[in-house]
Amino acid sequence: MNGLVLEYRDPLFGIIVLFTLIFVISFLTYSFSMYKEKKARREYRKLFKRFELGKLKEDDYVHLYQTYNLPFDSVILLASTFIHKGDFTKAISVYLTLLEHVNDRVKKEELLELLGSTYFKAGLLQRSKDIFLKVLKFSPRNKHALTYLLICYEKLKEFDKAYEVTESLDELRVNISREKVYLEAMSIINDPINSFDKKCKQLLELFAANKLIERVVVQYLLQFNKTFFWNNINLFNTSISMDLLWYLSFDDIDFDSVSKNEFLLELYSAKGYIKEGIQSKIFELNILTTLQKDKSNQQADLNFEFICNKCKHIYPIYENRCPHCHSILSFQIELEITKNYIDENQSLQ
Ligand SMILES: [Zn+2]
Repeated sequence: MNGLVLEYRDPLFGIIVLFTLIFVISFLTYSFSMYKEKKARREYRKLFKRFELGKLKEDDYVHLYQTYNLPFDSVILLASTFIHKGDFTKAISVYLTLLEHVNDRVKKEELLELLGSTYFKAGLLQRSKDIFLKVLKFSPRNKHALTYLLICYEKLKEFDKAYEVTESLDELRVNISREKVYLEAMSIINDPINSFDKKCKQLLELFAANKLIERVVVQYLLQFNKTFFWNNINLFNTSISMDLLWYLSFDDIDFDSVSKNEFLLELYSAKGYIKEGIQSKIFELNILTTLQKDKSNQQADLNFEFICNKCKHIYPIYENRCPHCHSILSFQIELEITKNYIDENQSLQ
């Protein structure tokens, strides 16, 4: 017993106990703070998830607007994130829900416009058309709605109605002359009664007055009346439709007409159809013509891209109306030399 008391009184032992206590306390404090931090992080993540935009229900947008008094423009901006993500269905259902709760006429019109353009982007043209007709009922001078309605009618091949819309836009001093010529051409092409011959003559008359529709006319003729095209080849600037002529099958080419057309001689030299190998001012065609002379080298081919001269977006396929900025007949051809995969595959067989 005495020995034990002595041990407790040992000053060295006291110091050891003190340090052990300090260590245990600091360890516990550290562990507790780590636990608290982890817990806080977990809760933050939970909270963050709850407010993630994708998790918000349609009604939440109504609450944000009505209960929390978030400005209308901010609610619209939040909903527009779905459009940027390509989730049109969600954006549409948010707009439809908001429409039920918004009474202000201007805000209602803005929502309807957004709904109409989202239907349009989602490819639901009939619905988009109906929405814009609704907007125009109480706001007949709405240029945005008229423009969308025009494109909807055009895509639905209701060209006469589209033309009527151009007249309304004309009255509002919107420059719509390009659309008018294009719609006239499309009306001729899609006329269910006229014969092919009559359509060709009408198209040519329209083209004589306006060169803008050249490619539309050439495309139609190459599809339905090649003889008419070759007989009138001198009327056309063939470089505008060079991709269509490049992919024309050998048997459909009238080489008598080609022999009188400088550009076509260059194009078909590059393709390897003209053995004389006529050199071109166009760099890509010139390279291909030179490669054609070397029979062992058949690995290069021509590819076409189309750049919109308004918005500068590039597309692999030609469209009469730019899918991005909706400009009419704004595509320009760009050439690029590519590897000839067909020849390579054939040589492997
Ligand atoms: Zn464009």
